[in-house]
Parts: sequence; C-alpha cells; structure tokens
Amino acid sequence: MSFYAHERRIAELACRRASLLTDSVYHSQVKGTVTKEDKSPVTIADFGAQSIVIGAVLHAFPNDVVVGEEDADVLRQDSHTRDLVWNLARKAVEDSTELSGDIGSIKDAEEMMSLIDRGNSMGGNKGRIWALDPIDGTKGFLRGDQYAVCLALMVDGEVVTGALACPNLLVDPSNPSGPRGVLFSVTKGEGSTMKPLSSPLSAEGVPVHMNALTDITAASTCEGVEAGHSSHSQQANIVAALGITKPSVRMDSQAKYGSIARGDGDVYLRLPTSKTYQEKIWDHAVGKLLVEEAGGIVTDAYGKPLDFSIGRTLSANKGVVAAPKGLHAVVIKAVRGELEKAEAAL
Ligand code: AMP
Ligand code: MG
Repeated sequence: MSFYAHERRIAELACRRASLLTDSVYHSQVKGTVTKEDKSPVTIADFGAQSIVIGAVLHAFPNDVVVGEEDADVLRQDSHTRDLVWNLARKAVEDSTELSGDIGSIKDAEEMMSLIDRGNSMGGNKGRIWALDPIDGTKGFLRGDQYAVCLALMVDGEVVTGALACPNLLVDPSNPSGPRGVLFSVTKGEGSTMKPLSSPLSAEGVPVHMNALTDITAASTCEGVEAGHSSHSQQANIVAALGITKPSVRMDSQAKYGSIARGDGDVYLRLPTSKTYQEKIWDHAVGKLLVEEAGGIVTDAYGKPLDFSIGRTLSANKGVVAAPKGLHAVVIKAVRGELEKAEAAL
C-alpha cells in the first residue's frame, strides 16, 4: 500500500501550477519587486505562487494548516501590486484548467489574499502541517538562475511527503542545451522521483538515487550562491581538508538538494554565517526528505538531525550538511574540525 499518495499528487500539481506562474513572470517584463523589512527582494511571483499552492492544498485537505513564507499585508496596502498578482494567479489557474478538478481555483483577489494569509501557522509537533516556500532562491529567480517551488507535508513534526519544482534545472544535466524544468517528489519510505515539469499528468516519475561513493576525494560539493547565506570560506576549507579537488558548484535554492539526490553532485555544505540566524523549515523540509530517500543523510553542521517540530524555524540546529550515507560521517568530522578551528581563533 502506498502512503500519502493523494498528498504527494496534490503537492506535485500545486508546485507545477505555481511554477507556471513563476515562469510566466520570469518571461515577462513585470518582475516588480517590493522590499520586505529584511530587505530581501520579494517578487509578485512569490505572492502569486503562495496563493496557488495554498489554494490547492486547502482545496484537497481543508483541515490542514500551512507554514508559508509570505503574508498579504503588502498587497492589502498596495492595490497596484495586488492587481498585478491577481492577474497572474488568475491566468495560471486558467492555463492549467485540466488540473482544476483536482486542485480547485481562486475566485477573486480577496480570496487570493486570504489564501496567502493562511500560511500563518506557527508549525509544531502536532497534526498535519504543510511547509511552503513559494519561491525559494528569490535572488536566483531574479538573476535568471536556479530557484524552486517547495512544498512538504509534516505529520506530528516529521516530514512525510512533498514536491520540489525546479523550473530552470536541466532535465538532463549531461545535455546543457536541452530542456529545463524538473519536478521532484518524495514520500518517506517510498523513495524519490523526478520527471520533466512539462510531462503529461499521467507520467510516472523515475526513481532518483545519490551516487554511491565511497571515496570522499572523488566527491563533488555544492553550496549556495549568496555569500550571506552560508560561509564560502569555511566551506572551501572543509573541501580542501577532505582532499576534494573539484571546485564547489554554486546554486541557489533547494535545487541543490534535488541535484545531489539525482547524483549531479554529492555533498551540500551550508555553514552558518551568523550565530543568531535560524534556518527556516520551508527552506529544507522537502529537500531533506528528497536526499534521505535517495540514499543520503541530512543533518546540521554538528551532525544533529534537523528538528522540524519546534516551529517555523530549525531553532535547535545550526547549518546543514547533506551527503551520501557512506560519506556523511567523514564530512561531519571535517566540518567539526573547521568549526573548532574557527572557535579557537575567536
Ligand atoms: P540559498 O539559495 O541556498 O542561498 O537559500 C535561500 C534561502 O536562504 C532563502 O530562502 C532564505 O530564507 C535563506 N536565508 C536568508 N538569510 C540567510 C542567512 N543569513 N543564512 C542562511 N540562510 C539564509
Ligand atoms: Mg527560501
């Protein structure tokens, strides 16, 4: 028997519909940005994608709750931006009418804003909670690089299923001029799969697996593009200490988890840049399960399991390290060595 089959399918359809919207924004001239308090660029596509995904989730599972990155405060104060977002959301729903029977539609701008605000759950260790990042890697999105629509279901604080849409990821990494757009999905205990984002609804995903490496020096690593999100210098020290010679591949968003899950690379390093920053659950929930189900281990920088059950952030953890099962321990040893060196230098 397959667990969470309906949830996984809804997650796939929701992320796919949202990525229709993000893709249309990307290819249009309306990359309007507003500035949040934290100064990160939030595009109108973020709001549109959040409304679409939450609409789909609550249409199928009305009693579930959602931890989403955005809220609609800005849209309620700014009718111009609200109208831009509503036009995009309406069009994405219309353009995916073949899906409507499964994932519903959105009536008007008011309903759209209410849906965005339904992402206000505080998370926790009880019941069914979805973690949503409508556009992970906003900076990558604005640059035309990697970004992702990320959705995971947690039950009693544990991630059990989800989908990850990566509209700019190569379908076949060995063919750099080939088509882009990959839809990953996963269920705990049942493995990770991928299929082209453009594939027909009936298409089955193909199983993905990490490379079964035993020699760390043959590994290739990846890290975020933004130097403010993880410590490039410490990551370079760790790569050197492990005897890895290939340069680390820099990529925005949870596309990093997808790419190591299917074996494009092997190890993902995310060393904290500040003592106070708490990683957000929506930045790691689906990616972590995707890598685990593809044969990997994902922990924080000290080797501690990521704890999604505390609230909106991973407040019990610092940083992230993802690696194939056979290599994770040796990577953590090098990471700890680097962290101790940094402590000693203070
Ligand atoms: P990445 O594309 O790997 O750099 O990750 C993007 C995510 O980094 C965004 O969704 C933010 O939530 C998150 N982020 C923002 N500031 C920080 C920070 N100081 N440290 C770690 N992650 C951050
Ligand atoms: Mg994010």
